[in-house]
Amino acid sequence: MKKKLFLIIGAPGSGKTTDAEIIAKKNSDTIIHYSTGDLLREEVASGSELGREIKSYIDNGKLVPLNIVINTIKNAIEKADKPVVIIDGFPRSVEQMKALDEMLKENPQIELVKVIEVEVSEDVARERVLGRARGADDNEEVFNNRMKVYLEPLAEIEKFYEAQNKLVKINGERSIEEIVEDMEKEIKAGI
Ligand code: AMP
Repeated sequence: MKKKLFLIIGAPGSGKTTDAEIIAKKNSDTIIHYSTGDLLREEVASGSELGREIKSYIDNGKLVPLNIVINTIKNAIEKADKPVVIIDGFPRSVEQMKALDEMLKENPQIELVKVIEVEVSEDVARERVLGRARGADDNEEVFNNRMKVYLEPLAEIEKFYEAQNKLVKINGERSIEEIVEDMEKEIKAGI
């Protein structure tokens, strides 16, 4: 099956998972959504050896190693039974971006259509994450680290996808309804 891939990136607290989830639910006949963070947390919840390794990174706000993340993404795209696949929280590093590029070259049936960046200021992100406090990784120290890890490769990631005319930025400091509307428009325009 030919698959069109949309990636959603954004700081912790940008709302990227919530937005993509809503869009996939509304369009469940054509769109499937995976959150990289959720996929990794599922592995942790399974209690596997791999899950224990993943947990040690998540709990410190660090990036899970490249090979684990790439495997997770590959499996998700393969198991997707819909023609449109949204993945949020990926890529989060230059090496992930390059590994994805290689994967796409080897799999011409997967087309990367757009990379959508949900933009929020650091203050809004902090307020949302610390207010939400979902798990062990939602304290101020871990938040600061996750923010740093998010921002560090961002310029290079933006540049790479801008050069391919695939980068779209949307303002994440609005109501969920407004963000979802914009994001859905961007996705539907590319299907
Ligand atoms: P999230 O739910 O997107 O905020 O992700 C939670 C945590 O999962 C992150 O702080 C990382 O430890 C891990 N994680 C999520 N996505 C990735 C990724 N693309 N690469 C490496 N680690 C990731």
